[in-house]
Amino acid sequence: MTRSLTILGATGSVGSQTLDLVARNPGRWQVEALTAGSDVAGLVSAAKACGARFVAIADAAKGEALKAALAGTGIESGAGESALVDAAARDAEIVITAIVGAAGLPPTMAAVKRGAQIGIANKETLVCAGPVVTAAATAHGATLLPVDSEHNAIFQVFPHDDPAQVERVILTASGGPFRTKSREEMRGVSVADACKHPTWSMGAKISIDSATLMNKGLELIEAAQLFPVDVERLDVIVHPQSVIHSMVEYVDGSVLAQLGSPDMRIPIAYAMGWPERIATPAARLDLAAIANLSFEKPDLERFPCLALAWAAMRAGGSAPCILNAANEIAVAAFIAGQAGFLDIDAIVAETLNMVASGPVATLEEVMAIDAAARRTARALVAKRAA
Ligand code: NAD
Ligand code: MG
Repeated sequence: MTRSLTILGATGSVGSQTLDLVARNPGRWQVEALTAGSDVAGLVSAAKACGARFVAIADAAKGEALKAALAGTGIESGAGESALVDAAARDAEIVITAIVGAAGLPPTMAAVKRGAQIGIANKETLVCAGPVVTAAATAHGATLLPVDSEHNAIFQVFPHDDPAQVERVILTASGGPFRTKSREEMRGVSVADACKHPTWSMGAKISIDSATLMNKGLELIEAAQLFPVDVERLDVIVHPQSVIHSMVEYVDGSVLAQLGSPDMRIPIAYAMGWPERIATPAARLDLAAIANLSFEKPDLERFPCLALAWAAMRAGGSAPCILNAANEIAVAAFIAGQAGFLDIDAIVAETLNMVASGPVATLEEVMAIDAAARRTARALVAKRAA
């Protein structure tokens, strides 16, 4: 049976791995729409290869170039943020959200509001607007399936019918490229150093988040949105081999885990195929070759971003949104050479101190607090550069 599929953020790491699975399974999925930020050539070649019906580019200035590149193909196109929402609103049964950052929020909401099956990779959407997104999913009958490997692992071993059986949910973290480095050694690291992830190959932003451990902090908040457990039951353990993707500890002391090689096509295929499982070309787990699995406690002093995220999760309300917005600005500044690696946690901490947090109930309130936090974080970046 052919199912229709839309990919938001089709030109990135998760998006292209999703398209790889589409190409390997002819006839299984009909691609309805693809979106990208500004990469016209990448979007056009992806759309031609998979036979997409509609493509949207976020950068409004690229609309004409996109249309010209598609001439004669019969593929429709749009440009600007509203075109992304149009793409998500089109009638596809499954939507994979693989945009990076809170920019993914409006199109994700469009897919949620028509009750789609949604494979969520775009964690920032759940961090900045989790309660709004999950309430809309319930109201409109949308299914949220986690693509993030940790949450996908938890989803696979979670007692969905009786969450009271859960004692703890334990997210594993690789520890990133600076796991054994001192703060002093981290001070001068380059963007390339920060993007050298020990086990996963990913987009730049999440790679840097993995180096600061903010990624694990965002994932704690994401887990709190996806699973009905008290935040005090969420925990993190560093596991450098990235073989165990996360665990659920039950009240009787049993711990169930999902394991696999670090290949995102496994959790992506799970979300695309659910409730069925789909064969993937991912390397099979060779435990004898791996030989040892090790674990250590996360160091919240060397990695303050994890502590900041943990506190924002406990504070709730708009605190996670402020944290996320400040982190997006700080990471972009680091990539652009306007801030150092250790400025990232400092900018996030200062923004959280400067922008008052409180309850948020609507998407409009979330967008307003997100904008305010971005303004504050940008001013902090500018002050450092001056
Ligand atoms: P990426 O940078 O490789 O790709 C991002 C995609 O979003 C691209 O298609 C890009 O064109 C598009 N995009 C960027 N900015 C945009 C904007 N302002 N508006 C609209 N589109 C925009 O990122 P990625 O590594 O694929 O990650 C995507 C999301 O999935 C992130 O939220 C990340 O945290 C999450 N995630 C990724 C991985 C991974 O292995 N890469 C694993 C788990 C979760
Ligand atoms: Mg993850």
